[in-house]
Amino acid sequence: MIHNFNAGPSVLPKEVFKKASQAVLDFNNTGLSILEIGHRTSLFQPVMDEARALVRELMELDSDHEVLLLHGGATTQFMQVPMNLLGEDELASYTETGTWAVKAIKEAKLFGHVEIAGSTKAGNFTSIPEELSVSATAAYLHITTNETIAGTQWHAIPYECGVPLVADMSSDILSRRLDFNRFDVIYAGAQKNMGAAGVNLVVVNKNVLGKLSRPIPTILDYRNHIAEGSMLNTPPVFAIYVMLLTLRWLKEQGGVDAIEQCNNAKAELFYTTLDSLPLFKGPVAVEDRSKMNAVFVMDNKELEAAFLDLCKKEGMVGVKGHRSVGGFRISMYNALTIDSVKALTDLMKHFAQQNG
Ligand SMILES: *Cc1c(COP(=O)(O)O)cnc(C)c1O
Repeated sequence: MIHNFNAGPSVLPKEVFKKASQAVLDFNNTGLSILEIGHRTSLFQPVMDEARALVRELMELDSDHEVLLLHGGATTQFMQVPMNLLGEDELASYTETGTWAVKAIKEAKLFGHVEIAGSTKAGNFTSIPEELSVSATAAYLHITTNETIAGTQWHAIPYECGVPLVADMSSDILSRRLDFNRFDVIYAGAQKNMGAAGVNLVVVNKNVLGKLSRPIPTILDYRNHIAEGSMLNTPPVFAIYVMLLTLRWLKEQGGVDAIEQCNNAKAELFYTTLDSLPLFKGPVAVEDRSKMNAVFVMDNKELEAAFLDLCKKEGMVGVKGHRSVGGFRISMYNALTIDSVKALTDLMKHFAQQNG
């Protein structure tokens, strides 16, 4: 039995793998593979339509918000967001909360001015800023709702920041109820919580677009993707199909509220165990701990290596921490079962007993 704690690409429901494999061999009993049909056909169009509609339904989006499925990963959005929203002489406000926020800030600086509304860099990104200072003239405020590497998460969203709100939700998209309509741009690579690598979800409030004089390359202008129903060019058809299957699965589970309860139960089990075992330490401020990516360490590096070996032996994959943080990190995305968390926490208890 494998327990997959990978940070991304990451665990998906088994039935998604089964149905996706079937579609490669024979898509909907057509005798054709999903990999060999045109994207502008009556075979694929319903896949695109249903995937976008399911995002709209699961996130309860209003008609101002458009759903796009694009190429290029979240990393492309680091650049595409300011290209579409930030004028050369304008200011954008960014929160600096970890590796991913830092990358987003770097790209924004290519297009306009950037202010840091709040930073936790001095504390090694082990918390979320307690207070923000956002200029009223800022084109938008950017937050990274979940820092996948640092293991922090915004539990209080700064909806009242006074300017349009933009969020990188790559690693906690559809994991919990948020007021998605109060964001003006939401983007997320699918490979953490929503499907396979290769497709990017972008939710954009169309009222924030079209305000710049900058010429925008056709493929990078959100307005063109909206006008073309997210089919400006060949979309990543297979990744979109896997995303559709994952969204259907999520709806069958009861949607965002139901999955949030599961995610809360998993996080509760993990962190309660962590806090009960002095051998393991959690560097992240308790109130800012991520329910998706939990980071933990040991003081004794030899024991760390021994625990990693034990995890490996027990079929636990993806437990090693990110190279920039060390220690351990486990990702508890939507598709990870509580049984996997139970198996890991049992192993932690056992190991602590042997080495206490
Ligand atoms: C993984 C990740 C990214 C990068 O996504 P790509 O699809 O590889 O470009 C960006 N932001 C966050 C928060 C991530 O977890």
